[in-house]
Formats: sequence, C-alpha cells, structure tokens
Amino acid sequence: MVDCIIIGSGVAGISAALTLQANRKSFLIFGSASLSEKIEKAEKIHNYPGLSDISGKDFATALQTQLKTAEIEIKEEKVAGVYALKEGFALLTQGGEQYQSRTVILACGVESIKQIEGEERFVGRGVSYCATCDGFLYKGKTIAVVCTTKRLEHEIGYLADFAEKVYLIPMYKNVEIDRENVTIIRKMPTKIEGNTRVENLVFAAPPADNIPKDLPVNGVFMLRESVSPAVLVGGLETENGHVIVKRDMSTNLVGCYAAGDCTGRPYQYAKAVGEGNIAAHAVSEFLK
Ligand SMILES: Cc1cc2nc3c(=O)[nH]c(=O)nc-3n(C[C@H](O)[C@H](O)[C@H](O)COP(=O)(O)OP(=O)(O)OC[C@H]3O[C@@H](n4cnc5c(N)ncnc54)[C@H](O)[C@@H]3O)c2cc1C
Repeated sequence: MVDCIIIGSGVAGISAALTLQANRKSFLIFGSASLSEKIEKAEKIHNYPGLSDISGKDFATALQTQLKTAEIEIKEEKVAGVYALKEGFALLTQGGEQYQSRTVILACGVESIKQIEGEERFVGRGVSYCATCDGFLYKGKTIAVVCTTKRLEHEIGYLADFAEKVYLIPMYKNVEIDRENVTIIRKMPTKIEGNTRVENLVFAAPPADNIPKDLPVNGVFMLRESVSPAVLVGGLETENGHVIVKRDMSTNLVGCYAAGDCTGRPYQYAKAVGEGNIAAHAVSEFLK
C-alpha cells in the first residue's frame, strides 16, 4: 500500500507529486504521459510567474523534463472508481487493475463540456463512462457513444466489438474509425430518457434523414477526459460539480484531498500548482 495516490497529471497532480517526493512519501500518479490537454492546448501562457509568454507545448516539455529528472513516472491508466476502505482507499482502473493507498489526492481537472440532461440520473443504469469496464454488458445491443476527444477513439472500436449498433457522436474532427456497425452523428443530443433504464437519446430535431429525433438505445457511453469527481468517488461532497474542500484541501472523506480545477474557479495554473502543494503537505501531516 502506498502513502498516496494522485489522480491526474496536470499541474495540480505534478505539484502534489513533487511535494510528496520532497516529503519522502511513497506515491503513484495516474494520468497521461502527455500530461494534460489543457497544457498542450494553451497557445501562450502570460500569467505564470517566471515563465513569460511560454507556449503550452514548451510548458509541457519543461514539466516532462522535470518529472524525468525527479524519476517520477506517470501511470498511464484511467482511474474508474475510488472506494473508501476501513483504512485507506482502493482504486480500480479502467483496465481492471486494483491499487491501494492510505490517502488520495484528486487532481482530475474539470470537463468543460456540460453534462447532458438525464446523464446523472442514469449512471449505472445505462449511462457509463468506461468502455472497458462496461462494454461487455452491451453485447448485441444498440448504444450511443459521445466521445469528446480523439485520444479516446480507440475505446469506440472496443465497444463496436460488442454492440450490434453504435451511434457515434464525436466532438472532434478527423474521425478515423471505420466500422460497418458504427454510424456517425454530427449533432449533440439534448437529453437521455428512460423509465428505470436508458431507453432513448433525444435530439432537438432529427440528426439525419434516416435517424429519428428520439433514438432508441440500450446504453449511452460518455467518453471524456475527466469524469465528475462525485461519480469517481462515492460519498464525495461536491457543489456545482466542484469538490468541496477546506483550507488544507481536505474533503468530507477522511484521507481524501483535492486540488486544481476540480475544486473550483479560477481555473488557472498558479492556483492548481498551489493547491497541489497544499494537498501534499496536508497528506504528509495526516500520515504522521
Ligand atoms: C486552451 C486553454 C488555455 C489556457 N490558458 C491558461 C493560461 O494562459 N493561464 C492559466 O493560468 N491557465 C490557463 N488555462 C487553464 C489551465 O489549463 C487549468 O487551470 C489547469 O490545467 C488546471 O490544472 P489541473 O491539474 O487542475 O487539471 P488538468 O490540467 O485538467 O489535468 C487533469 C488531469 O487529470 C487526468 N484525469 C482526469 N480524470 C482521470 C482519471 N479518472 N484517471 C486518471 N487521470 C485522470 C486528465 O487526463 C488530466 O491529465 C487554460 C486552459 C485551456 C483549456
């Protein structure tokens, strides 16, 4: 069991990792080797102390070099769920791996794309965020997949292996998936409807000539970079999608801390770095 698991490889998670290392705590950090889309996409960063007018790409390279020098390796796995144990936490990844830690720092950012009406209501009853966890449940069924980033496109192929029919709603250009059972829809749905489970994906108007406004589906996969922290961690208190934290970045769950965009505005690097640092110091104190 490690002292801490950090979920997220943006600047909040990296700052927490560097501080935990300085405090000689054992930890794992989950995320992506390319760190964060929000770093990559920034054209020019004007407001970070000491780095005037740096591009997001150069900032990412500087962070990667720093991690390499510090011998901090990012585990390229998506965390699918965090469960509080009697002491510490168990984490399950989308690939089915399990890890245990004494504490957790959530540094998972925020998804700028809004939830669809009905999404939260049907989580676990037809709405899923994890292709590899739940794909097999839809063998021979009809599903819709809303995919917000090309980085997750490989998961659509995995779902198309199980489902009879996949309606793909990509929110990025250059879709490369070419499967007979995948139909692409270039309109966002407005609502997910059903009785006890998902039954229909609703559009404001028919999204194509041969596709009805109320599209019958058995499930809806929402493939996003980040899922809402409340979905990730059962029992976590949030407000308007943000984790509620105290001054030391602790949450309502003992041993669980949060930092960065996931705790609320302003969404800025400096705030995320500071919070990652505070959370790591608070974790170190807690472990004493
Ligand atoms: C285009 C653009 C330009 C910007 N420019 C500026 C600027 O000039 N100045 C400024 O101060 N701010 C800027 N920002 C805001 C800044 O990018 C964010 O405030 C900052 O990235 C937040 O850092 P974070 O670590 O909290 O989250 P993020 O950078 O969003 O990182 C979160 C990480 O967690 C990972 N993750 C999420 N869920 C999981 C999971 N379940 N398992 C594993 N990993 C997970 C994600 O993949 C991601 O790597 C900009 C944002 C954008 C989009």
